[in-house]
Amino acid sequence: GPARHVTVRVAPIGSRLVLALVEDRTRERRVEAVRRDFVANVSHELKTPVGAIRLLAEAVHDAADDPEAVKRFSARMLTESDRLSRLVQQVIELSRLQGDEPLDTPLPVHIDDVIGVAVDTSAIDADAKGISVVTSGARDLEVLGNEEQVTAAVANLIANAVSYSDPGATVVVSTKADDQVVTIAVVDQGIGIPADEIDRIFERFYRVDPARHRSTGGTGLGLSIVKHVAATHGGEVDVWSVEGQGSTFTLTLPRHLSTHSGPMSTTIIQ
Ligand code: ADP
Repeated sequence: GPARHVTVRVAPIGSRLVLALVEDRTRERRVEAVRRDFVANVSHELKTPVGAIRLLAEAVHDAADDPEAVKRFSARMLTESDRLSRLVQQVIELSRLQGDEPLDTPLPVHIDDVIGVAVDTSAIDADAKGISVVTSGARDLEVLGNEEQVTAAVANLIANAVSYSDPGATVVVSTKADDQVVTIAVVDQGIGIPADEIDRIFERFYRVDPARHRSTGGTGLGLSIVKHVAATHGGEVDVWSVEGQGSTFTLTLPRHLSTHSGPMSTTIIQ
């Protein structure tokens, strides 16, 4: 393409400039390849629920005089359309985040609020499995960023902890901080992640066990959303896991020390 041509002609001026240009093109090409890959994967992933819903609609149509069958098929249609809307929702979320651009207007985000909403989001699934989600650790912490994104990230970690734990288990969401960073940890005693797969779980659509996956209804996008939220906030996400024993995911974000919160602002009336 034309950009490569420019690279060659600039060569005599100085090697540093040339190198910079070449690197730029490499990055562009890589981004383009990732984008093409993503579109191909999304198309593939969308076909499954769409195809299922179509077949089930036909089945409902053909079974019109069998009320039991109609009930069964439409319940499955509901499950498949839920999966479809979750997938669409997450694809939209991910495409907004994909550039890893720093946020335009970061605002103070209260971690207590984030965790409250994130825990509520998983409450129905947790209750259905008899799993309790408990919170512990430091309160009144703040980061600078986008509250919706941070909440989505924490909610994804909690949803995973719930869906990869056995019924009756406990999931712990804890917080701590130093002067620099806030760390949110989501700890489960679930199935864990095999050591040789742990590097791959943040990739889009990667699942350790695609068969199990169908039953949990996950999209394979949750952790890549978490990773991108961490990146746009200048933070990181880490994982420790032992297969069969459980996993700990931590989201570490730069701390925001507000000047007017906490016990200092409390008025004590004697
Ligand atoms: P999914 O929608 O499949 O949960 P994610 O991107 O959130 O997609 O996670 C990718 C894969 O990582 C999951 O399919 C699962 O195999 C594994 N995983 C994520 N969180 C956990 C966890 N807390 N315990 C065990 N495995 C996990």
